[in-house]
Amino acid sequence: MINEKFKNLMRVAEITMQPVPTGDTPYTMGTMDCWRCETEVIVYSWRGKTWMDDNPPPDPVPHTIEYRYSRKAQGSYWANVCPCCKVIQGENFIYEPRGPLPHPKSHPSRILRILGIKRREDNGEAT
Ligand SMILES: [Zn+2]
Repeated sequence: MINEKFKNLMRVAEITMQPVPTGDTPYTMGTMDCWRCETEVIVYSWRGKTWMDDNPPPDPVPHTIEYRYSRKAQGSYWANVCPCCKVIQGENFIYEPRGPLPHPKSHPSRILRILGIKRREDNGEAT
């Protein structure tokens, strides 16, 4: 089972030239079709990752993870991008239940910031 998954990753990696870290790696990988160009690509998550994380991922960072601005999310985060057409693979599409990757921990304050909701303490105001 794990072997089949690894073989599939290596098959896609040969075409897309994306890295497949092995051993004690913080990265988790899965394959899916890019929503725009339909190329089969590898998408990554990593240990400690949160939803739309703006903390840098661990080194060495796969070259298809970039800090990008998403108009839809109205914020920047470390996103998986397609190695062919460079479009962001949105987190809704790469994580379960729609995508191949296990869901990262949610991060309420980050989600609130993305939504443009400021908590009172963020404004430095007394509550
Ligand atoms: Zn693409």
